[in-house]
Amino acid sequence: MIELPTLPMNDGAHAGGPILGIDLGTTNSLVAIHDAGGSRVLADFEGRASLASIVSYPTDGAPVVGEAARERARLDPGRTVHSAKRLIGKSVQDLGRELSTMPYRIVDAPGRSLAMIDLGERLLSPAEVSGQILAELRRRAAAALKRPLEEVTRAVVTVPAYFDDAQRQATREAAKLAGLEIVRMVNEPTAAALAYGLDQDGAEHVIVYDLGGGTFDVSLLQLKGGVYRVLATAGDTYLGGDDFDRTLVLHAAREIQERSGQDVLADPAARAALRMAAEQTKIALSNAEEAELSFHDPAKGIAYRATINWRTFQEAVAPLIQRTLDCCARVLNDAGLSVENVNEVVLVGGSTRVPLVKAAAAQFFQRPARDELDPEQVVALGAAVQAGVLGGTVHDLLLLDVTPLSLGIETLGGAVSKLIQRNTAIPAQAQEGFTTSVDGQTAVSLHVLQGERELAADCRSLGKFVLNGIPPMPAGLPQIAVRFTLDADGMLRVRAKEQRSSVSAEVEIQPKHGLTDNEVERMLTDAWQHAEQDLTTRRVVDLRAQLDIVVAAVEKQRTLFKKLEVTQLERLEDALEEAIDAKSIDRPDALKGILDALEEASFPLAELLMHRIASETVKDRKVSELLDSESSA
Ligand code: ADP
Ligand code: MG
Repeated sequence: MIELPTLPMNDGAHAGGPILGIDLGTTNSLVAIHDAGGSRVLADFEGRASLASIVSYPTDGAPVVGEAARERARLDPGRTVHSAKRLIGKSVQDLGRELSTMPYRIVDAPGRSLAMIDLGERLLSPAEVSGQILAELRRRAAAALKRPLEEVTRAVVTVPAYFDDAQRQATREAAKLAGLEIVRMVNEPTAAALAYGLDQDGAEHVIVYDLGGGTFDVSLLQLKGGVYRVLATAGDTYLGGDDFDRTLVLHAAREIQERSGQDVLADPAARAALRMAAEQTKIALSNAEEAELSFHDPAKGIAYRATINWRTFQEAVAPLIQRTLDCCARVLNDAGLSVENVNEVVLVGGSTRVPLVKAAAAQFFQRPARDELDPEQVVALGAAVQAGVLGGTVHDLLLLDVTPLSLGIETLGGAVSKLIQRNTAIPAQAQEGFTTSVDGQTAVSLHVLQGERELAADCRSLGKFVLNGIPPMPAGLPQIAVRFTLDADGMLRVRAKEQRSSVSAEVEIQPKHGLTDNEVERMLTDAWQHAEQDLTTRRVVDLRAQLDIVVAAVEKQRTLFKKLEVTQLERLEDALEEAIDAKSIDRPDALKGILDALEEASFPLAELLMHRIASETVKDRKVSELLDSESSA
């Protein structure tokens, strides 16, 4: 069995306190722990396992979290934040049409493209909201484990597989606000597979079907040699249990309108109350053939009561379930697999309790769907398993993720040098050497890119930074080591260091806006479709860059031209002219010919130069530098 490459400490449970496993959900969040008895969810003092991911901010007093905040939503919708996870790590521009679905005001943070909730007297970041939820879970865990709060400081937190660096970074900040260090982020579907211990069952392709409160995600995981890889994901960020509730709300509202002429939907508070009643009815219908839906509003004189039959309900939600199946078909198609290739189907999310959902998923994949573990808890339980691995209570388990797209930096002429290839298991580290192309250059601009294409312009820009303060040296002399460190959570740190002078610069990449899984897919197909053409373009770019360097090096020695024989000089001038004209040539073989000719024609010049250097030995120090500059050019 393979060992985990970076096992932080074996006695984690004692040395650093327990490591929590946390599912920070859009609708509900949970905390679990792994101990001698396995993984278990920690309930609050009233025995509730899940915490509503809602935080309300009263004008006076401390923020209210969970069920109590849900109650306040009716009184104070503008100051009660739900679904903060939809906003985290995004800008107002990223949110687009989603903005209109939020009951509170959202603006960009001053001077930054980061969505914030406007409370009137202050701006509230989504990370702060998630931080309150995490703090509540931390308090709950400390109480359940009978540990002082100060000892509960570490957690494994799950995030959707499609979360980008910015969303992961913001989640990390949220945890920090709660006094928690995220020792590892795990993709939600991977956590679910872990909870079932599927890595030990020899399953190769696992479908994780996750229908929550407001979102649907389906992921195809590949388990190979103890390594988890997310092969493809699809989903709908506006499809979930809330939509099931809405079918009942609309049904009730229509009947109330008919009976009393009142429009309950026009009043936000009445609407919220009806929605909560509808959810209860829906949940009851998962275990009974019929359930009651009642709504009373004495102020308006409404007393509504109806019996909902499960058939009526299922007919109403069938089209919604069909949409999830369309996503399932897409995920298989994207991975080039069919249902026969799927070895396991895991159900995740409270809404998979609806019998029709379960049946539809099983029918689509032609196999029973796994539901032995509570679908609302399974992600948290899996996070706890990973916490157990890190804390040393679980052995013989490897959990690796891979980076979906290559990472690299832009080089001369707009080409890309890839340091970390796509599908590399993370954490990963890579280093490559670079140098300057202009004499006396004291600053180098580094452009970090993501993607499979050969040219910078076709890749996604992740950020730029400048390495300043390089002492002036001839071109080619500075030795700039660029190191990429991709940590286990997919965060990228880029460090550039000039070795001779030790000046260095570093960035942590936090892209402004994220990539959806569709965009990743598009980038991959693009790269594939353009592969041949890209390679040619890449070669042209590289050859032109080389030509520029040789031309500059030759031009620099113009004072020596007069010492050349006439035929040598003519050949050199011709070759130079051709090289300078080569800008418009885009055939690699032609460019290579021109480059070879120029190098050959400049040979006598190099000889002259060597001769002069040899006679300059007396000026000791200079010589080595000149030679150095020749050899690296
Ligand atoms: P999220 O991952 O979005 O935080 P959850 O997995 O906690 O969401 O799922 C919450 C959704 O599950 C809610 O819409 C809730 O009404 C629904 N749900 C919970 N229990 C049941 C049940 N027994 N039958 C049907 N729906 C349920
Ligand atoms: Mg969830």
